[in-house]
Amino acid sequence: MFKEFAKGLSITFKHLLPGHSTTVQYPHVKLKPSDRFRGLHRLVPTQDREKCVACYLCPTVCPAKCITVESAENDKGEKYPAVYRIDLLRCIFCGYCVEACPVEAIEMTAEYELANYQREIFAYNKERLLR
Ligand code: SF4
Ligand code: SF4
Repeated sequence: MFKEFAKGLSITFKHLLPGHSTTVQYPHVKLKPSDRFRGLHRLVPTQDREKCVACYLCPTVCPAKCITVESAENDKGEKYPAVYRIDLLRCIFCGYCVEACPVEAIEMTAEYELANYQREIFAYNKERLLR
């Protein structure tokens, strides 16, 4: 029993040594999220417009029902989202919207610093998502 106790203490002391900490001094030091991290959404732009073709697949699959899309047609007869909005307060960051998109028009970024004091800030419209 003493052996296990000493082993546990040695692990604890090892982590006290400089350079062995498992935590960082956030926000002065920030860890890089993994490639698979699902953070804030991004609507992918093309040359003169957004890539989204307003097909309604992402609001359909979204389990939290937090995506609002309203489609319109431009002069060339192409569909585009006149309104595209995500309510991040309801989003569960599952990534289904990204998986469902047939034209890879939406992706999830590594951005995770989303805290705010005002609820309306969490309603991300098309302009804010097109980055
Ligand atoms: S990540 Fe999930 S919950 Fe959030 S908008 Fe996409 S489908 Fe909806
Ligand atoms: S983001 Fe993709 S899935 Fe969602 S409406 Fe646009 S084209 Fe369809």
